[in-house]
Amino acid sequence: MPTYAITGATGQLGRLVVDELLARSIPASDVIAVVRTPTKATDLAERGVQVREGDYSRPETLTTALTGVDQLLLVSSSEAGQRAAQHTNVIRAASAAGVSRIVYTSMLHADHSTNPLAGEHLDTERALETAGIPHTVLRNGWYTENYTDQLTQYLQGGEIVGAAGNGMIAAATRQDHAVAAVAALLANDDGNRTYELGGPAFHLAELAQVISSVTGTPVAYRNLSAQQYVAYLQEAGLDTPTAQFVAALDTSISHGDLHTDSDDLTRLLGRPAIPLADVIRTAHE
Ligand code: NDP
Repeated sequence: MPTYAITGATGQLGRLVVDELLARSIPASDVIAVVRTPTKATDLAERGVQVREGDYSRPETLTTALTGVDQLLLVSSSEAGQRAAQHTNVIRAASAAGVSRIVYTSMLHADHSTNPLAGEHLDTERALETAGIPHTVLRNGWYTENYTDQLTQYLQGGEIVGAAGNGMIAAATRQDHAVAAVAALLANDDGNRTYELGGPAFHLAELAQVISSVTGTPVAYRNLSAQQYVAYLQEAGLDTPTAQFVAALDTSISHGDLHTDSDDLTRLLGRPAIPLADVIRTAHE
């Protein structure tokens, strides 16, 4: 039986991936949770999953962590700015350990996106090419939770404020991204694949409309220029670099960088992604 390792397995996406592998009857002993902090993974060990320490910034932990692994899901690090180097450490360790395939969580349109987070994903995709290990790139769109996590705030303020204009966002839940990642891990693909993964698309005025209709509380979208949005975020307490970063994410959305018409997500899931109204209904419960 092949073994499946998941990095970042104590994170939100990683945990959903482990759950999905077990739900698909992959024996827990063939599932390897590679984690920075093993004490956060005691529940996984109790379920029979192999828990191994693997810190992206400590290459000496990674080769041992990846020994005997066939299929590896490299969940991108949450430490922006360090990610290209960290991911390269994992790819080198996977190469040394003889991993058969790496599935990597990249970003939609990483090769031409203006999103400030895209560069490190593209660097990682290039590192995969250079390493020559068969790989599958999952160019993930935005998690719908980036918005639903702010639902209470939207409902209390009666508005969504941003600078994304009419830019479409093909978002999908973490759960859908996790199921797609497991499909890619189990696919037994030959060669290299790149999937552009997006769910049902909306712009922020549509998001406001759907929130209003699902919750019964009116919410409107207020669009600002990038400069106005930076000032708005600073007034809300963000420091200047963070405010500029958040505004740059919305500017990139206004350019269409988080939109795709690709049906790759539907094909990997074997069903449509969860509709936006359902996601909002669940978040509102
Ligand atoms: P989380 O923040 O919940 O999880 C990130 C995981 O990365 C954690 O398990 C964390 O470990 C692990 N990690 C961070 N640094 C290291 C390190 N040096 N060595 C080993 N592991 C490390 O993020 P999500 O699960 O929600 O998302 C997964 C990834 O997707 C994110 O890391 C980010 O790259 C990207 N992302 C995508 C978004 C989107 O909308 N598409 C939005 C947000 C993030 P620990 O548990 O020890 O902290």
